[in-house]
Amino acid sequence: MPQETILILGASFAGLGAAHYILKHILPALPKSGDTTYTVTLVNPSTDFYWRIAGPRATVSKALMPPAKYLYPIAPGFASYPKDSFTFIQGTATALSTSSRTATITLADGSTTSIPYHALIIATGTNTPAPQLSQHTTTAALTAALDDFQAALPKATSVIVAGGGPVGVETAGEIGEFLNGTPGFFGTKPAHPKAKVTLISGDKKLLPVLRPAIALTAEKYLARVGVDVVYDVRVTSAAAEAKAGQTAVTLADGSVRSADLYVDATGVRPNTAFLSSDLVNERGFVVCDPATLRVDAAGPRVYVVGDAGSYTRGGVMDLDNALPVVMTNLKKDLTGGSGPDRTYTPNNSEQQIVPVGRGKGVGAFGGWRVPSWFVWMIKGRDYLSSMAPDIVSGKKWAKESK
Ligand SMILES: Cc1cc2nc3c(=O)[nH]c(=O)nc-3n(C[C@H](O)[C@H](O)[C@H](O)COP(=O)(O)OP(=O)(O)OC[C@H]3O[C@@H](n4cnc5c(N)ncnc54)[C@H](O)[C@@H]3O)c2cc1C
Repeated sequence: MPQETILILGASFAGLGAAHYILKHILPALPKSGDTTYTVTLVNPSTDFYWRIAGPRATVSKALMPPAKYLYPIAPGFASYPKDSFTFIQGTATALSTSSRTATITLADGSTTSIPYHALIIATGTNTPAPQLSQHTTTAALTAALDDFQAALPKATSVIVAGGGPVGVETAGEIGEFLNGTPGFFGTKPAHPKAKVTLISGDKKLLPVLRPAIALTAEKYLARVGVDVVYDVRVTSAAAEAKAGQTAVTLADGSVRSADLYVDATGVRPNTAFLSSDLVNERGFVVCDPATLRVDAAGPRVYVVGDAGSYTRGGVMDLDNALPVVMTNLKKDLTGGSGPDRTYTPNNSEQQIVPVGRGKGVGAFGGWRVPSWFVWMIKGRDYLSSMAPDIVSGKKWAKESK
């Protein structure tokens, strides 16, 4: 009996969601009359899902953020589906031929395999320059990056974090509180700061998505944990210095600052090196129809979902909009259904929740500023890690989105 593969590249928020959704809601709904069967193949460099939202706190301490809260094995979440409907491959897509409709996968042992696909979902997301803030390759490599940082952190007397976006602010806040503690209730700075922690923002304000007044509150909360903010200058390079263990950080104004530890949180880069240049934009994000999320240049039944796509400013909540669009259009394309496509509408409202240290935070939700205690309650307590099990188990997508 001919079997067609629905290939999903990347097993994080987007790829795991797509795999569960297809297995729960699309495969069972496909017509049984023909002799073709469908199977889902999910490819990811790691056998674990990294809840990288917790990366800023995971960076500083396993006591504060235990690995069990941010690392989840992928396989058990798929154990309940029929065996012939799902395959997980530990590997990395290293090439894609849109003419032969085949992906080349480099496996964990370095060998390669080719996977022909009937439908393809690109969910390879983004990586961060700092190795501990995303799952670049294996869990062992991620754990080593976290261990190295945590071994050096308690001894550090100077730390530079580059990047005034939410990841930079959160990471600087966690490092500041870990090293310097917090002042008393009415204090504005730690009484006896142990380390000079500096956050370098390339912009004139922190947190581009949020209004200036909220960004200034973030600066105030950073000061509480001994973090100074330097504005409007970009880091141009960072290199290990001859002086053991130090990093020399060069800024666009020509000045050089040295620090015991350096965290590059200057944004994310798309994981799309395996795609030909006609499939990505000038920044490397996958070009798609911004309404249907089909990658039309790659031929029929090819989609992008999640942060790798050019259609989105990124973020996990955006997937609540985008994933059902891709899934509905995939279902339609597989069944040859008629009727309109489902279309994606971005939510560009002021929306971001940013803990600053373990007790404070700033943010807005749907254009409404939220108080610090709300940020702590929603995210600052555990970096939303209690939501992770539903992503890996598929419970998050238990219901089909109509
Ligand atoms: C430190 C940090 C904190 C964040 N905090 C928040 C937050 O609080 N709220 C929020 O909404 N968003 C947050 N984000 C953004 C959020 O993490 C992303 O929106 C989300 O991870 C996107 O999911 P994704 O599945 O598209 O991609 P990713 O999570 O980037 O996952 C991509 C997956 O594909 C794999 N992969 C990469 N290349 C290949 C390849 N060639 N072949 C196969 N697999 C591949 C990767 O290993 C990874 O498993 C944060 C991001 C970072 C870095």
